Order: sequence, then C-alpha cells, then structure tokens
Amino acid sequence: MNAPQTPVGDGSHKPQPHKRRARPYTAHPRSFRKPARTERPANQRMRPRSGRPQRRNHPQQDTRPRNQAVEKTVLPVLDEDTVRIIPLGGVEEVGRNMAAIELKEGILVIDAGFQFVSEGVAPGIDYILPNTRYLEENKHRILGVFITHGHLDHIGGIPFILDRIGNPPVYTQYLTSLMIKKRHEEFPHLPAMVVHVMEQNGRVSVGGVIIKTFPVTHSIPDSMGLSIQTKHGNIVISGDLRLEHEDEIPTEKEEKNWSALGKDKNLIFIADSTNAEKGGFSIPEARVYKTIDDIIKNVKGRLIIGTFSSQFERMVRIIQTAEQYGKKIVTEGRSIKTNIEIAQRGNIFTPKPGTIIPSEQIGDYPPDKIVIIATGSQGEESAALMRIATKKHKTISFTERDTVVLSSSVIPGNEVRVQKLKDNLLRHNITLMHYRSSDVHSTGHGNTGELVWMQKKVKPTFFMPAYGYHSMLRYHAAAQIASGFPKENVIIADNGMVIEIKNGTELLIRKEKVPSGPMMVDGFTIGDMQEVVIRDRQSLSSDGMFVIIATVNLRTGQLKKSPDIISRGFIYLRESQGLLSETRLLIKKSVEDLASDMNPIDLEYIKSNLTDTVERYLFQKTSKRPMVIPVLIGV
Ligand SMILES: [Zn+2]
Repeated sequence: MNAPQTPVGDGSHKPQPHKRRARPYTAHPRSFRKPARTERPANQRMRPRSGRPQRRNHPQQDTRPRNQAVEKTVLPVLDEDTVRIIPLGGVEEVGRNMAAIELKEGILVIDAGFQFVSEGVAPGIDYILPNTRYLEENKHRILGVFITHGHLDHIGGIPFILDRIGNPPVYTQYLTSLMIKKRHEEFPHLPAMVVHVMEQNGRVSVGGVIIKTFPVTHSIPDSMGLSIQTKHGNIVISGDLRLEHEDEIPTEKEEKNWSALGKDKNLIFIADSTNAEKGGFSIPEARVYKTIDDIIKNVKGRLIIGTFSSQFERMVRIIQTAEQYGKKIVTEGRSIKTNIEIAQRGNIFTPKPGTIIPSEQIGDYPPDKIVIIATGSQGEESAALMRIATKKHKTISFTERDTVVLSSSVIPGNEVRVQKLKDNLLRHNITLMHYRSSDVHSTGHGNTGELVWMQKKVKPTFFMPAYGYHSMLRYHAAAQIASGFPKENVIIADNGMVIEIKNGTELLIRKEKVPSGPMMVDGFTIGDMQEVVIRDRQSLSSDGMFVIIATVNLRTGQLKKSPDIISRGFIYLRESQGLLSETRLLIKKSVEDLASDMNPIDLEYIKSNLTDTVERYLFQKTSKRPMVIPVLIGV
C-alpha cells in the first residue's frame, strides 16, 4: 500500500485540489461570505455544532489527517547503554501485535499483526492496525521485521505496513514465511518482499545486533520467541505460547529449551498474557487429541468438526486421525483449504491421495466414513457451519445422524453469534459437542501457572506482560509478583509508551509517547483519521438518517414547494405525519429567514444552519439524533 490514502467521507481533511466552483450568482462579497469550496454532501463536512461552518484558511495546504498533524515525536539518540522498547499495539487488546525495540544500532520491529473489529465498535471497518507513524518517521533506522509465528494477529498487518516503513527485510521461520508469502500474493501491487528464513534455535546478526530464536509451543508449527542481545543483557520476547506438560509437569523438551534460555543474562522478559486471567495450567493439547481421536473413531454417522484454521496442528491431527480410521475428509471454508495447502507446501504433512474429497462426493461413501472440517465455529454468518445450519449450503445439509463438534472456545464478543449457531445446529436434531461439554478444545496460550514457570527459567531483571487487554496484563503481573518477582521491576505498558532501560538497571518511562491511535483498514483505504466516518456509521446505526430535499429560489429565497423528506431507521414515517409536517414548516421558515438577509444566497451556509436546527428539533421531539442531510437545490 502506498502513502496513506485519505478516506472518502472526511471532507475537511481531504487533500483535494482547491478548485473554485462557478456559483449560480454573482455579487459583492459580504461579511458572511466564505471562500468558495468544493461541493460536498453536508454530512461529509466538519462543522461546529452550531453557528457557521468552520473556516479553514488554507485547506489545500493541510494534507495531513487531523490527528497526524501533531508534531513528530523526536526521541533522544541512544547510546550503547540504553535500550528502548515501544509497544505499538497488542498491550491494550488481543490482536494487532507490534513492538519496536530500539538500540544504538537501529530499530528491530517485532510482529506486524492486525485485529478484527466487532461491528458495534467500528461499523464497516475490516481491521485495525498498529500505528506505524513512529516507524515511518524513523524508517531509515529499521534493521528488520521479526515475525514470531503465522497467526493473523502477528502477520496480518504486513501487506498494509511493510511498504510504509520502507520495506525492510522480514525474518521468520519456514512455515510462517510461507503464510506471509501466501498472503502477499493477494496484494499484487506491492513491491517484492525480502524474507529470510530462520532455523529453530537460529541466530542472525542484523546491523550489528545479534538476535537468537528459541522454539515455543503454540497452536501453529514454527512458533518462536526472540532473544535480542544488548550490552546489558538480552531482551527476551515470548511470542504467543503455552507449555507442553503432563499433569502440570513441563515436558523434557520445554525444560531443555527454557533452561538454555536461562543461561544467558536476561534484561527483560516480554511475555504473552492472553490467558493470564486463568490460574494453574491449561488443558494439555494431548488430552484434546485423545478426545478427538475417540470421537473420530467412535462416532456413528457423519462427523462435522468446526475449528479455527489457525489451529493448524489440530487440523493436521484431525486429518491424520481420519486417515488412520479409513475415513474421508471434506474441507469447507477457504482458510482451511489454504492452510492445508500451506502445510503440504511446507512438508509439514501430506494427506494420502484420496483422503480429501470434494463435498460433491460425500454421497459416494457411507456416512460414518465422512469427516467434515468446517470454518465458522464463532458463528460467522457467511462461514461454512452457519451456511449448512441455515440450509444455505449448496451440497451439504444436516441429518439427525450427524455429530457436530465445536473444537474451539468462544472468543469474547462472539457469544451471541455462537449461541445463534448452536440453536441453528440443534434445530436439525444433530448431536452437539463443544468445549464446555468435553475436552475438544485447548488454547494456544498458557495460564499463569505456565507463565510463572517460564519466568523463573528466564530470570530477567525486568518483566513486561504483553499480548492482551489491560486486565490480562494486570493479572499476569499480579501472578508474577505473587510468585516473588519484584513489583518495581514490572512494567505495565500502554500502546505508544516509550520505555527505556539504562545500564541494565535504571528504568525510565519517558513522558513523550509515540502515536498509537488505531489505523483502520476500510476496504482499500488505510488511515488513522476516520473518526468522522466511524461516528457517522455509529449514528446511522443507532438513530438512522433524515434527508431533506428542498428547492430554493435563488432570487427570492423562497422555497418552491414544501420540502421532501426521506428517512431511514429513524421513525416510522407513516405514523409520524404530525412531526413531519411540523418539521417541514420549520425547514421552510428557517431557510427563508436565513435567505432573506443574504445577497447573494449562500446555500452552504443555510444548509449548515438548517442541519443544526433540524437536529435540535428532532432531538427535542424524539430524543433521537438521526443524521440530518439537507439537499438544497438553487434555481
Ligand atoms: Zn498466536
């Protein structure tokens, strides 16, 4: 993606050519006359709540979005005794993970994720990205981007971000590199990307900084943590992770990996907090495999498993188990198909020929030989599971003999959708199993028992919980402090906070912050200044819209006829005739009163006043604030 595109909808910040529009009248400029401006719909203008439209002296010079017009963050040049850590995303949310590690030699960027947005928060927005402005301003100092693993909250931002920060080289492990490249293919306009594949326990020197990787257990292969060498100890970053364990005793492999890490002098440990609100140890994935093995083996009739395509290892395991019992696999959902393709390309596993069959061939086999893996376990409307459940799928429909397993937990915010999915599924009299009814899901993130164990191995001087909402960071910190970690060495960060550690001992939170407001991806547009668009969408979704169409005689200032009103989502017009006729009268009076003083008649000015008057009136009458859009036609 090239330079930030300005979204349509926020007219006041638009870097538009300042073209003068021919006006249907000529005259002596009077005091209220504004400079001619490009015609825009009223709802796309910034205007004060009352009074006259806001003046901008040189709109054509101000091409920066409003909240980018703040001054550049200038931070002091670092010496070799100081390290700087700037979380750019992921410490106030689950998702859009990104951090800048700044040393004397340059900046290392860790992860570049995005966050999916729920409808209520930002209607119509596809994803939220970390704010990369500090990196854009300092792109000449970026040494590389290190990606810990292939989940979208760590790689999803790459196609939108990489070009903006100077297209630095990407370092990651093999499977992740395949996933990044596969996604990159969907953005053919982007420049080629340089990806260096690192080994497990690999080591690379970039711009004089040595970075080591260490393997971690997560729900996708080739997940890694990072250890960045500095003069006063290593900066250790966990990535997403959990522990492989049996009855809360970590396996030998974990013991070995983490003990090795603890041999270094570690300055700070930055660690996953996603599951830190849960104590003890998480359910071992081995137990989940065992449960799913039993289900695949024993279920009579068809088996439909809904899971996340990001649960890469589980998906592979399901296919292998099905093969073991001579069953056929049908995959439903693009992300599942893509990830199976990537698994094959990455030699992680290759299904036997004939194991995966197209859904059209389901009828060629007895039902108990069929396992369907489907997307949509979060109740997504357009995903496979919901389409089958609502009889919208072209080849698959449920029968009473089917068993559906939801092999995932409910992501917070999706409760209502998942409930709807369960109800729709059960209307078909199927058998339903989910993570609350049996061990069919475990998470990729460790509980505090695991996190404390890791911390004790790493033995850092400082500790910073990351990857989670603020509450999760707090729980994580509390657990570490309870286990004996010194409270004063814990850093609970916000996005954009500038953290410095000097001489390996002195901690400083700088008073300057770098920009951290979310950057939105709205279709093909990226920007961090779409508050106006979002606010419009929110107000449309809550109180609807109210369009006024009136024809004004530019000579007399009188309305040609009673104004037309079009409204959606506001009130039921047919039952509100009284309100409508009063509003029409108000519109007529307010346009004609304003116009009577004007020569020439300034429709822009009238529109803006009219909007305020009608908004106020409708609010008094209905307690609602529909978006009022006046369309005045001068004749
Ligand atoms: Zn992950």
